[in-house]
Amino acid sequence: MTVIQQVSIRFSELGGKKFEMGDEIVFTHGLVDIHSHGRDNNQLLGDGMTDILSHSVRQFGTVLLMPNLADKDALMTPEMAIAYHDRATKATGGEINILVTVYLNTDLTEDHIKMISEDSRIAGIKSYPAHGTTNSEHGLRTPLEAHKQLEWMQKYKVPLLVHGQVRTDDDGDVMDEWDREPYFYEEVAPELDRLYPELPISYEHLSTGVGAQAVIDRTGPTQGTYTSFHLGYTRTDAMDIGVRTDMVGKPMAQHAREKPKLWDALSAHPHLFALGSDDAWHPMRADHPIASKHAQNCACGWVHGPYRVGSYLDLFEKHNALHLFGQFASVNAARFYGFQVPDKTIRLRKMNYRVVDQLQFGNYSAQPLNAGEDRVGWCLVD
Ligand SMILES: [Zn+2]
Repeated sequence: MTVIQQVSIRFSELGGKKFEMGDEIVFTHGLVDIHSHGRDNNQLLGDGMTDILSHSVRQFGTVLLMPNLADKDALMTPEMAIAYHDRATKATGGEINILVTVYLNTDLTEDHIKMISEDSRIAGIKSYPAHGTTNSEHGLRTPLEAHKQLEWMQKYKVPLLVHGQVRTDDDGDVMDEWDREPYFYEEVAPELDRLYPELPISYEHLSTGVGAQAVIDRTGPTQGTYTSFHLGYTRTDAMDIGVRTDMVGKPMAQHAREKPKLWDALSAHPHLFALGSDDAWHPMRADHPIASKHAQNCACGWVHGPYRVGSYLDLFEKHNALHLFGQFASVNAARFYGFQVPDKTIRLRKMNYRVVDQLQFGNYSAQPLNAGEDRVGWCLVD
């Protein structure tokens, strides 16, 4: 059995190894999930946030939680985001660093944005396409509608995090799902560059070549995040013999021609892309207001839980990119947002394992991606 222990911060020594079953990798610099969802502990959900974040505590040193919560919980102000930060930190027992984001909206004032720039708990402001994904009713058609806020964000160097899809075209008609990301990167991103060239931007969960290219082409501070889902699956996987609800999420899985473009962009520009799993739980039962993951109009979002780091490692090994993993999974996001790479040791073993059928989710349960499947790959061990 070989055990590869991290030495350099980028862990480039991980590359060039041929791993056998039973081999282990030990990370001693903490990994960062720079895009995940925490939900909230409340009367209806119970300790759902504690359950979700318990998996972050086991795998990561820092996680950035997104703000797409329902209605009054949507984190529309820095005060709401700080309160959410404190609830999330409490739910983890203070064991990892939590970062949060405010929901981009046109009621944010210059004082709000200055306050965000001075508070290290808030990483930036997240833009969602209106009605384009779960609980995004407060989103804008494009972030360009918040022009005052973007000006202030550029002035105070507050990062804009973007769900880069547009749901409706210029006439207000709903666009084809697979045109929505290209439309954003062809029509909206160039305008953001032209109007706010120095605004720090993180383009989230990129699923297309045109999206990855926008990160490469931009001259202002920019990062792109990749989910293991878009790095690993295509729309054929999701819809080959019936639609797999565990694979439904936004952006949807793409045409097979897009996946190699994501990998090409990552290997040519490894300093620009970061790990953002978009782990986003929904309960299995249909009687919950967060909607159900496995129902008619099933909720969008992937449930990775304990399998987040392992699923990326499997893919990086398959694509001969393990030498880039440490940079992707901790260094890049820390540099972009200006925080220290956390200290945290985790151990993974290459092994046979079965994905659990259900994960505890407060008063409910959630079903992970590939639930019940026997798999061979990297799995977290204590
Ligand atoms: Zn998300």
